[in-house]
Amino acid sequence: MKALIAVLGGDGIGPDVVAQAVRVLGATARHFGHEFELAPALFGGAAIDAHGDGLPPATLDLCKRADGVLLGAIGGPKWSAPDAKARPETALLRLRRELGVYANLRPVAVHPALRDASTIKADVLDGVDLLFVRELTGGIYFGEKRRTATDATDVCTYTVAEIERVTRVAGTLARARRKRVTSIDKSNVLETSRLWRSVVERVIATEFPDIALEHMLVDAAAMHLIRRPREFDVLLTENMFGDILTDEASMLAGSLGVLPSAALGDGSRGLYEPIHGSAPDIAGRGIANPIGTILSAALLLRHSLGLDTEARAIERAVSEALEAGARTADIAGPGVPVMTTGGMGEEILKRLRA
Ligand code: NAD
Repeated sequence: MKALIAVLGGDGIGPDVVAQAVRVLGATARHFGHEFELAPALFGGAAIDAHGDGLPPATLDLCKRADGVLLGAIGGPKWSAPDAKARPETALLRLRRELGVYANLRPVAVHPALRDASTIKADVLDGVDLLFVRELTGGIYFGEKRRTATDATDVCTYTVAEIERVTRVAGTLARARRKRVTSIDKSNVLETSRLWRSVVERVIATEFPDIALEHMLVDAAAMHLIRRPREFDVLLTENMFGDILTDEASMLAGSLGVLPSAALGDGSRGLYEPIHGSAPDIAGRGIANPIGTILSAALLLRHSLGLDTEARAIERAVSEALEAGARTADIAGPGVPVMTTGGMGEEILKRLRA
């Protein structure tokens, strides 16, 4: 297969971790006989420095032509001044909007070799394998905002169409998993949540009758994610609840550095990135964990190119490297030898080639 993949390193540790994912994609293409054109472009703070624009036209054009977009991370103190004219975060919101992606996928699986890396008791973590599907373009983050000297208002709006389309993504993905969806809302208080619940109920009942649906209030979900995470399969949430709960859930896996994400729309093209940021505290030291980005590349192969076998090969290589004891500093226990970003990439490549 021939495919064009846009590669946006971004800022901080972004270019380092993306470089390892590019090696892995190259090796996967060679092994399975594909032709991936991996086209780099400036994005985020790096693009602001070069062009005064976090999403220059050439980068946007490449992303729109590409079959999938792989991103490292953006942002950092250099571009965070309160009076900054251009912000990396604004570029990311624009890119998501331009690509029309509205469903954010965050799988959280606890690798057996990393069960002691989490602050949660190891026996609670055994067998955890869940997938968040978070609505990405609606809700309170995008509603009207107003501020006076004495009050402030953020409006939360959801349309039926917005809820329907993200529910279909969750239903479709649940079918390929354990066929369970937990829809999270606050329907005892919020009108948008009452609409959410009724639309999810209807779409699953009529279009996904084979899927078991349960509803859960967001406060209860926050508790159950820590108490019995293994019982969840697909969790479907609106934008802000998903933002908060996915960060909570990332701690089940022990480190931000090992978790991938995907943002999907109606077509097959998607935006893939690790869940972590640009980590300015460790940038330039060559010690960042590339696993979240490498697993994001695997998601790109699966969801944008339909290459499930190839995605599994990458995921297996990551698992085998971890089982063999490969550790970057963020997932190494005390006294455990640690490797560099490139060293971890090499350990994964070795197993992929084998
Ligand atoms: P962060 O995720 O960058 O870092 C949080 C902590 O986790 C840091 O101690 C960091 O060293 C560590 N960490 C993160 N990724 C790691 C990895 N791969 N390996 C090892 N350790 C890792 O979050 P932050 O410090 O709150 O944000 C830093 C910058 O990143 C900010 O400018 C923020 O706006 C930006 N950010 C960008 C994205 C994105 O690109 N989508 C997401 C979140 C934050």
